[in-house]
Amino acid sequence: MSRIEIDDVRKVYDSDEGKILAVDDVSLEVKDGEFVTIVGPSGSGKSTLLRMIAGLEDITDGKAQIGDTVVNGVAPQNRGVAMVFQNYALYPHMTVRENMSYGLKLTTDLSGEKIKQRVDEAAEMMGIGDLLEKKPENLSGGQQQRVATGRAIVREPEVFLFDEPLSNLDAKLRLHMRTELQRIQEELGTTSIYVTHDQTEAMTMSDRIVILSDGQIQQIGTPEEVYAEPANQFVANFIGSPSMNFFEGEFEGSTFVGDSFEYPFSESIASQIQDERESETLTLGIRPEHVEVDGAAVDSGTISASLDVLEHEGSDNYLYLTNGDDEWTVRVPGHDHYHEGEHLNFTLPEEHVHVFDEATGENLIEHRGETAVSPPQSA
Ligand code: ADP
Repeated sequence: MSRIEIDDVRKVYDSDEGKILAVDDVSLEVKDGEFVTIVGPSGSGKSTLLRMIAGLEDITDGKAQIGDTVVNGVAPQNRGVAMVFQNYALYPHMTVRENMSYGLKLTTDLSGEKIKQRVDEAAEMMGIGDLLEKKPENLSGGQQQRVATGRAIVREPEVFLFDEPLSNLDAKLRLHMRTELQRIQEELGTTSIYVTHDQTEAMTMSDRIVILSDGQIQQIGTPEEVYAEPANQFVANFIGSPSMNFFEGEFEGSTFVGDSFEYPFSESIASQIQDERESETLTLGIRPEHVEVDGAAVDSGTISASLDVLEHEGSDNYLYLTNGDDEWTVRVPGHDHYHEGEHLNFTLPEEHVHVFDEATGENLIEHRGETAVSPPQSA
């Protein structure tokens, strides 16, 4: 096991269209035994960052360290990492056992007996003991994924690197393999970096999440932290499903004035926002589960909208409301009854309201010591 340290790492690709800055001054520490997920939209630089750690891409600038060793320039097979890819990368002409043994035969001087023992143990762990003599073409996608993970395990690496390993599986299997991979990682305690574009995967699997956009880190934190206290509007929008509600507006005194509603802030929060902001236009944000629907008489701070669509999810329902151009998504308990077409009044508890600056995207309200909230679990 090993810690990983990335210091001011940059990657510039030379392409036909000129230089592409894929990873822009990224610094990151992954603790010994930690499971860290790098998440972001397609093209944000996740794979490039992982491949630089693996040694599959050169590092343009900066330093990557695994354990006590600076690994810039160290060959991939000498970095103590094992990587699991989205396409599994199994050798089609080899059996499962041969696929799992191959790397060990190539890069270690372990005896045949020792290799067999390691492969058997990893196969047992991944539940593929009865597949060892089969060829990849005779395996399902889920089984191939297990073989690819088993092949990483036999190497007993310092670090696991996962590049979207579950993307090719169907939704149900993906859900199952998430818990499988978590179990294996916990059992082995191997430091792991996991890349995905799927925020739910990141939220459910990781000790900490790194959110990347345009090659830059937007926020690093536990799933609870990035959910409850997004550093900026990008994170607020990217993490959580359905997404946070956002409304543009301006301040008049301590009141936020949007297109279809006004929201009075307390003096202390309003002055915090006024001190921090750079733009006239600001964006108010609130998560669907934090909107409080009640039939109370309309007074200051009460917002009204009409219920266009009611979506039944079972334990929770989602209400989609509109007022003018403003659209609201609201999560309510499944046993509450609403009717499409009705007019609803609701309030926004100030401790759950975020305000983002238009120019910088920064969240202008500092940590308020709110207790961590659990994000809704969806498949
Ligand atoms: P992600 O994994 O988040 O989808 P990538 O790391 O694959 O992102 O890509 C980041 C950026 O680098 C993108 O703009 C992509 O087009 C570019 N890129 C990736 N690989 C190469 C390459 N080999 N040559 C040129 N540009 C590349």
